[in-house]
Amino acid sequence: MIEGGCFCGKIRYTIDPGEYPIVNCHCSMCRKISGAPFVTWIVVPRESLKYLQGSPRALNSSAKGRRQFCSDCGTPLSFHATDRLTDIDVTTCSLDDPDSYIPTRAVHEESKLKWLHRTE
Ligand SMILES: [Zn+2]
Ligand SMILES: [Zn+2]
Repeated sequence: MIEGGCFCGKIRYTIDPGEYPIVNCHCSMCRKISGAPFVTWIVVPRESLKYLQGSPRALNSSAKGRRQFCSDCGTPLSFHATDRLTDIDVTTCSLDDPDSYIPTRAVHEESKLKWLHRTE
């Protein structure tokens, strides 16, 4: 099982093992909500994500999606796109072992921060 959870430990989840797309998103909404230059998402089948402990709070961040996060510590956990009903994006850095999940592409590069190449 792939395991993860939020910073404070209230929320824990598992994802069925598999080969999943891993994508860096440079959109302005991911940036603002995370407070980080970009968010790395692992895209998994919706039914494979199971919350073992705690339940996240949800925010409709736009007409296109809903984001879940820990209501206690604020860790962003997932994104449900309203036009992709069979999968869900999970924040790769809320996994226990993010180093094992390597992003292979980027999206919304038109809004990528101009200084990012200096620091990555
Ligand atoms: Zn938490
Ligand atoms: Zn995004």
